[in-house]
Amino acid sequence: MAEKSCRLLGGKEASDFVASMDAFIFDCDGVLWNEAGPLDGAVEVLQELRKLGKQVFFVTNNSSKSRAEYVKKFEKFGIQASMEEIYGTAFAVAFYLKEILKFDKKVYTVGTTGMVEEFDALKIPHTGSGPDQSSGGYNVKEWSTLTLDPEVGAVVCGFDEHFSYHKLIKAASYLAKDSCLFIATNRDDRFPFKSSDVVIPGTGCFVISVEAAARRKAKVIGKPERYMFDCMKLCHDINPSRTCMIGDRLGTDILFGNNCGLTTILMLSGISSLADVKDCQTSSDLDDRKSIPDFYMPSIEALKAPIKH
Ligand code: PLP
Ligand code: CA
Repeated sequence: MAEKSCRLLGGKEASDFVASMDAFIFDCDGVLWNEAGPLDGAVEVLQELRKLGKQVFFVTNNSSKSRAEYVKKFEKFGIQASMEEIYGTAFAVAFYLKEILKFDKKVYTVGTTGMVEEFDALKIPHTGSGPDQSSGGYNVKEWSTLTLDPEVGAVVCGFDEHFSYHKLIKAASYLAKDSCLFIATNRDDRFPFKSSDVVIPGTGCFVISVEAAARRKAKVIGKPERYMFDCMKLCHDINPSRTCMIGDRLGTDILFGNNCGLTTILMLSGISSLADVKDCQTSSDLDDRKSIPDFYMPSIEALKAPIKH
């Protein structure tokens, strides 16, 4: 198989490229900000793209916040963004249940208060968020007599700082019924923090646990699956051939963009490196081959010059 190239986007090619695109989809963590705050150039690049009349969207796998909470986060960082431009996995899961599946039962949630805000916004009944009610000890009798809500028709697994053995029992028990839907927000295995040696497990670790306990696989809504782009297309007029996906992670952002037929740019300001691109170029795994970006740039700041020219 011929090796797909991935080259530095710069100079006149970068200015021509910006002119040729109508829409820019930004991954958030690692492109616009990291744990220390907004990245240099993010505010200006977004402002300038808007001045040029480009459509901008934000796509994040982080399920911990609702769209309303994201608007506040963007505001705090000085980046203008409206709810309609922000696609987080908490919103996307609620939208999928309500608008695509016309789901009318109750959801058992492994998730944050931000995630259930999106269920509330779409009037989807739910149970399970917050700390569990268990006594905390090794108590088989208590576990085996837990009450299950007969109204539950789906388990949604996202990031949950209160994830526990008790929640795992409940999720697996609901999922013992084949008719119970099993949806996960994303499979990111770790938080993308670079500033500490501590490993912070991500949502993918919860999803794998529930899958193991339930002996079933979840349907994933977040990147690299194309669902969030389909959702975006339902609400906005978007031409994939004139849309660019900008991300920092090959296996989520770039694979997502390539899966959706978009032009992809890897920003080297986050998780993936050029060595990772090389690994994908020489890999025999199909998903790796589909995770090769069209271009790379050092960081969002490098987009400033091409936008202004
Ligand atoms: N999931 C969680 C819980 C996170 O905290 C993050 C980033 O901080 C992500 C996923 C990845 O987010 P993004 O898709 O914006 O890179
Ligand atoms: Ca990212």
